[in-house]
Amino acid sequence: MSATWPTITKTPQARVQAVLGDYDQACREFSWDEARSLLDYMPNGCLNICHQAVDRHVDKGNGEVTALRWIGRDDDIQDFTYADLQRETAKFANVLKVNQIGAGDRVFSLLGRIPQLYIAALGTLKNGSVYSPLFAAFGPDPVRARMEIGEATALVTTLQLYRRKVEKWRHELSSLKHVFLTDDDNGDLPGGTVSLNAAMASAQTEFETVHTRPEDMALLHFTSGTTGRPKGAIHVHEAVVAHGITGRLALDLRAGDIYWCTADPGWVTGTSYGIISPLVNGVTMIVDEADFEVERWYRILEQQQVSVWYTAPTAVRMLMRAGSEQAQKYNFSKLRFLSSVGEPLNPEAVAWSAKTFPTPFHDNWWQTETGGIMIANFASMDVKPGSMGKPLPGVDAGIVERQGEKIVELTKPGALGELALRPGWPSMMRGYLNEEQRYEKCFAGGWYLSGDLASKDEDGYFWFIGRADDLIKSAGHLIGPFEVESALIAHPAVAEAAVIGLPDETAGEVVKAYVTLNPDAKADETLRKAIIATARRKLGPAVAPRQVEFRDALPKTRSGKIMRRLLKARELGLPEGDTSTLENN
Ligand code: ATP
Ligand code: MG
Repeated sequence: MSATWPTITKTPQARVQAVLGDYDQACREFSWDEARSLLDYMPNGCLNICHQAVDRHVDKGNGEVTALRWIGRDDDIQDFTYADLQRETAKFANVLKVNQIGAGDRVFSLLGRIPQLYIAALGTLKNGSVYSPLFAAFGPDPVRARMEIGEATALVTTLQLYRRKVEKWRHELSSLKHVFLTDDDNGDLPGGTVSLNAAMASAQTEFETVHTRPEDMALLHFTSGTTGRPKGAIHVHEAVVAHGITGRLALDLRAGDIYWCTADPGWVTGTSYGIISPLVNGVTMIVDEADFEVERWYRILEQQQVSVWYTAPTAVRMLMRAGSEQAQKYNFSKLRFLSSVGEPLNPEAVAWSAKTFPTPFHDNWWQTETGGIMIANFASMDVKPGSMGKPLPGVDAGIVERQGEKIVELTKPGALGELALRPGWPSMMRGYLNEEQRYEKCFAGGWYLSGDLASKDEDGYFWFIGRADDLIKSAGHLIGPFEVESALIAHPAVAEAAVIGLPDETAGEVVKAYVTLNPDAKADETLRKAIIATARRKLGPAVAPRQVEFRDALPKTRSGKIMRRLLKARELGLPEGDTSTLENN
């Protein structure tokens, strides 16, 4: 894994400039109380995410800093200063309040990336209510299922989305009392809905942010559904302690930054690091309403002078597939830090990015459940392409193995086991909604068990192997799909790859790969053989795929994760399970 890709070393200057300069020292000196002291608590130890993200910047005289620069599909731009956000979130909170939506009530959004989403998210928190985002692209059933599980009191959406996805079943969900539509009311809004614009126009512009306690529920996030039915993870206001400090340490965020997180707020990255963390750190965040498009993204990076960029491996692979020549037409001199999350970042992609941008992509790892970044490649730390990096200061991570009832930590470098964390960081989920047993099963022997397999090398870097469910056992070998996929995409014709194990009488399982090709490649027998030969050379015959199938696209979740379980189910004719988060479903 590590051997074939040279380490990317950081200059002493990079170390001096990074927020986290010396990793070991930062770990020694770190305490969560110190992280808490960077925030402004309310009286009696109360803490509210919206207060940290918005109000306190205005209180400190930074109200005129641009908080949110929104770029519409048609390139129209709307700027919101921190003072604007304070006023708009106050109005939204007042709309909730006059409708008797209060502390603990669940407010869902079903919106594309439009300004009202950000205002609704923060305004809901300001009001002490619980915010739960839904992907605008979900079909009616996933929307309904999540709102049922979450016992939605209110929904903020558009007329079109309401008509298509909610109207039919709305009255069967008895908890749902209020539907706010972001469209203007021209007398054509359906009965039982309210125009948000009209309500906001008559709302008071001042609102005293509710003094929530750190343990009050703030966010309800559904997992990506990569491995099965999505779970509703409960997060509390105290999570903001982790959102704030991890943004500084792992994303190198600081005042003055222009930051672009491309994740949709419909999943946890788009909320933790697409709304809360950047605002807590007082930066200007870019939001693009439109979807991924190579030229558009490069143009935004250049024109908006983005300094910190947080995206996903699938996007990095698509940029890589489009070629470096595309990138060379743009000026990326302002880019200081690049980071990616959500899936393993192939070493090939890291090496490509190091040649194409002023700095390579820095992979980091976390989950909906952990609420914030847990393992990261830091700006000051050498990058080993293919590694997720090291635990955040304050995070105790280990590789463990279940031995009967016992959990044993594997301390030998390179040992393969389950990635586990010692509970206690502020953004840890406080439960899976209505699934107490499932939640309890995540903990054993004083560890939180992530369900991912990984190893740790002699320098303390963590390496992702695969999800426990995706591990392939072939002729006595344990094969992680990531390693095989990375070897496949190292072939110049391959854009993306997904690998599964198929049952085999002699070997137990054999490796099968599905690949998509770069635009200029021709899918034929010669290429198939060449790809298999490359994989055999890199991985050895026992680990290399026996079969390679060409595909136009791979099944992915809407957050861009490859759904290996679906490939396997389809291959074997098994039930597909929950496909609510499947892209193009
Ligand atoms: P579900 O739990 O519903 O199956 P999910 O696990 O994909 O979905 P998320 O919480 O959005 O839902 O994703 C977290 C998972 O994504 C991690 O457990 C891990 O498997 C994967 N992941 C995230 N970041 C990385 C990374 N840097 N490298 C490898 N895998 C990653
Ligand atoms: Mg998961």
